[in-house]
Amino acid sequence: MKKLIAGNWKMNGSLAANEALLREIAAGLSGQPACAIAVCVPAPYLAQVHALIMATPALSAIDLGAQDVSSQASGAFTAEVSASMLKEFACRYVIVGHSERRQFHGESDALVAEKAKAALAAGVTPIVCVGETLAEREAGQTEQVVKRQLAAVIHTNGHCISEIVVAYEPVWAIGTGKTATPEEAQAVHAVLRTQLKAATDHADRVKILYGGSMNAANAASLLGQTDIDGGLIGGASLKAPDFLKIIAAVP
Ligand code: 13P
Repeated sequence: MKKLIAGNWKMNGSLAANEALLREIAAGLSGQPACAIAVCVPAPYLAQVHALIMATPALSAIDLGAQDVSSQASGAFTAEVSASMLKEFACRYVIVGHSERRQFHGESDALVAEKAKAALAAGVTPIVCVGETLAEREAGQTEQVVKRQLAAVIHTNGHCISEIVVAYEPVWAIGTGKTATPEEAQAVHAVLRTQLKAATDHADRVKILYGGSMNAANAASLLGQTDIDGGLIGGASLKAPDFLKIIAAVP
């Protein structure tokens, strides 16, 4: 399976900074990359980034993604963005259930599952984030937590489950410089793969990304693990040299 390196820009950027970043990435991408690449950008910049990708041949390998989506199709839901709106701006992916949404916006497993469903219905691939907090890891609950989070999405999305991307992002590793060791990450990815296998005959084509302080130095060893099918990159995706090095580290 082709690996996927996806940048999550989070709430960063400006018109000028986005253009500079993408031009630097374009200059550094040589030939056809070995992996699929995506950038998940703040909603107001979707049109800008889409236009830049279309206008720049060297960026043609990059797919566009958003960072969140409404569970609703349309209507009186002030400030929400629907999956069909994302589709109109050529989004291939949308992140759902990022721990920052779960933590700071109270998103439940059930809501995340509905968001994944709305994305799938519009033809946008949800990147479903799961991951335990430090307290949960220390209490030995990692497996139980990620399985509960994924189970909600499996239950709600039934036979479509092979169409999602999963991202394992241990909350304690996000933006902290602490990374799960390749072995720790692989162990959780294997649990998630087994859970997917019980739900679909096509579990082997579901990409399971790792996210949490992935950088140029640790990418190769993480991406070398059997069940790590790519990365969801925060901080390092905002620096073109780092993002390019991670892409180059894909085995
Ligand atoms: P960092 O790479 O900055 O730790 O962020 C990871 C993340 O949350 C990606 O979604």
